[in-house]
Amino acid sequence: MTDQPPAASPNLWQRIPLWQKILAGLVLGVLVGALMGEQASLFKPLGDIFINAIKMLIVPLVFSTLVVGITAMRDPQKMGRIGLRTIALYLLTTAFAIAIGLFASWLFQPGVGLEMSFDSGVEAKEAPSLREILVGLVPQNPIDALASGNILQIIVFAIGLGISLTLIGEKGEPVVKVFESFAEAMVKLTNIVMSFAPFGVFGLIAHVAGSYGLEVLLPLAKVIGVAYLASVLHVLLVYSGLLALLGRLNPLRYLRGILDALVVAYSSASSSGTLPVSLRCARNNLGVSEGVAGFVLPVGATINMDGTAIYQGVVAVFIAQLLGVDLSMADYGMIIVTGTLASIGTAGVPGAGLVMLSIVMAQIGLPLEAIAVIAGIDRILDMARTCVNVAGDLMVTTLVGKSEGELDESVYNAKTSR
Ligand code: ASP
Repeated sequence: MTDQPPAASPNLWQRIPLWQKILAGLVLGVLVGALMGEQASLFKPLGDIFINAIKMLIVPLVFSTLVVGITAMRDPQKMGRIGLRTIALYLLTTAFAIAIGLFASWLFQPGVGLEMSFDSGVEAKEAPSLREILVGLVPQNPIDALASGNILQIIVFAIGLGISLTLIGEKGEPVVKVFESFAEAMVKLTNIVMSFAPFGVFGLIAHVAGSYGLEVLLPLAKVIGVAYLASVLHVLLVYSGLLALLGRLNPLRYLRGILDALVVAYSSASSSGTLPVSLRCARNNLGVSEGVAGFVLPVGATINMDGTAIYQGVVAVFIAQLLGVDLSMADYGMIIVTGTLASIGTAGVPGAGLVMLSIVMAQIGLPLEAIAVIAGIDRILDMARTCVNVAGDLMVTTLVGKSEGELDESVYNAKTSR
């Protein structure tokens, strides 16, 4: 523990918990956007500055926390177990997600009776092959991986460096100390950047709320409603259920602990961008150790996209209904398999899921031009799916932490979140 200078007594602004200020920013942003319309984009720079600032944190924060986490763990078997559990849980929850999306669209039929014309220049993408994914994991040049922000490659290098530092024992200690101090500074910087979150979220949401008029949203209200409903159900049923059943943890504490990350995910539509906030929530509110959070969250922000999977299920069925195409059981099976792969290949940046949707559409023989129907409102769907993507990463992090004895339950169950 470092010595802190004596803190001055907090003023009113400091006494309000951050999550409440961020939520207030969100609500105010919606109101201002609705009132000012397009002119609300005046506030967009506030949001852009905030997003740039959290993106600035990603690479150094992930790299340093992971090296520190690995050197603290000192047990290769444990690391292997954590890796396997993480991947298994990510795949399991994604398959659930896509099934929930398919079911919701099948049940509520958002595309039936709707007439829309479309014309888009979208070209089909290819789902990444397992071979490509595996080969691409190892960086040829770690500096290049750091510079281009290739998170999976950064993770591989950080794990290698962490293990090697442990293996060389005393000789590695000076470097470990440097990383510890650097990681601590990055956490501090995250806290500083997060204190601007209420303003950033306000700016982002005011812009979005001001640019989408009811005339574009109303015809698609049903599909938006179905996608949002399926997302909420997935978080409440699957995540809360798994936490309660497998982790014997109170899901309400989890939901409360991840609020900051959810609001930032909602307003930024980027799970990679939200990573520093997720790391902060995992550490401060959920009590997950640095080693587990530092590994499980960045992996999740790159490959675990449950919200995107839900969206692919909902939209594929919606478009089939719109075109009057009957989907067979084999088609549904195909959507689950390709949707899961496509979601793994989706980058955690705004709009990536829309492009990857073409993989699923092509697989079941739906015309790609139909994507244009929802392209205009994709941001509204993107905001919801990004929330689920981030919530899923944090849920798996909590479960893996719990199963490895790396979850401080006194923090998890604490009455207040920081
Ligand atoms: N925007 C999403 C994310 O960052 C990805 C997507 O477009 O589906 O998680």
